[in-house]
Amino acid sequence: MARTFFVGGNFKLNGNKQSIKEIVERMNEAPLAKDVEVVLCPPAPYLDYATSLVTKSQVSIGAQNAYFKAAGAFTGENSVEQIKDCGAKWVILGHSERRTLFGEDDKLIAEKTKFALDQGLGVILCIGETLEEKKAGSTLKVVETQLDAAIEQIKDWTNVVVAYEPVWAIGTGLAATPEDAQDIHAHIREYLAKKVSAEVAEQTRILYGGSANGSNAVTFKDKKDVDGFLVGGASLKPEFVDICNSRN
Ligand code: PEP
Repeated sequence: MARTFFVGGNFKLNGNKQSIKEIVERMNEAPLAKDVEVVLCPPAPYLDYATSLVTKSQVSIGAQNAYFKAAGAFTGENSVEQIKDCGAKWVILGHSERRTLFGEDDKLIAEKTKFALDQGLGVILCIGETLEEKKAGSTLKVVETQLDAAIEQIKDWTNVVVAYEPVWAIGTGLAATPEDAQDIHAHIREYLAKKVSAEVAEQTRILYGGSANGSNAVTFKDKKDVDGFLVGGASLKPEFVDICNSRN
C-alpha cells in the first residue's frame, strides 16, 4: 500500500491574522501535487480562522499541542474537543520545544497522544535525539525509548504520523543528510514492525523534520522511508509549496 506523502507546517509561535491569511491563500492557489496531504499548524488562537480560509480538500489545519483532559480547571490549556470544534483535524505532540522548554516527558506525551486519538484527532508524534545523544551514539536508543512510551498507549495507529526530528537540526539550517534520515526512518519502521505489527509499520507515515526547505526537500525524494516533512521556519514562506511538491 502506497503511503500518501504528508507535509506539516509548524508555524510555532509566529503569525497574525494577516500573515496566516496570506499563507492559507497561497496554499489554496498553489498548484499542489494531487497526492500530497498538507497540514498547517498555526498557533491555537488562529485555528478557527485558518480553518475558515482553507478551500482545498487536501489541506487541513492542525494544532501544535493539546491537553489530555476534556475540560476543567487547567488554566491555559486547550482541549482536543475545542481544537476539533475549531475545525482542526490534527495535533502535533512531543515536539522537542515542548519537551525541552515545557518539560514534557515521554509519559505525558504518550498520555496526550492516547487522549487525542481516542477523541478522533490525528497525531503528528515527534521524536528525535539531541546533539549530545547523537554524539554519544545513542540516536536509535533514544528514538526507541520515545516510541516505547507511545506504543504502550496507542491501540490504533491509523491516525498517527511519526515525525523524526533530530533536535540538532531544528531551526539550525543544518538538516540531516537524506541518507542518514533514511537509515533512521528505516530503523523506526523496523522497530514498529517488531513492537506493533508489520501492517502498522508498512502503513505509518514517517516524516523528516529539521531545517527542511524548498531546496533540500527534493534531495529526499528517492528515500523510500521518508514519507514527507514536518517543517518549521520554511512553512511560513512561499518555498513551503516547493516542499509540498518535492515528491513529484
Ligand atoms: C519544527 O519546528 O518542527 C522544525 C522542523 O523546524 P525547522 O523546519 O525550522 O527546523
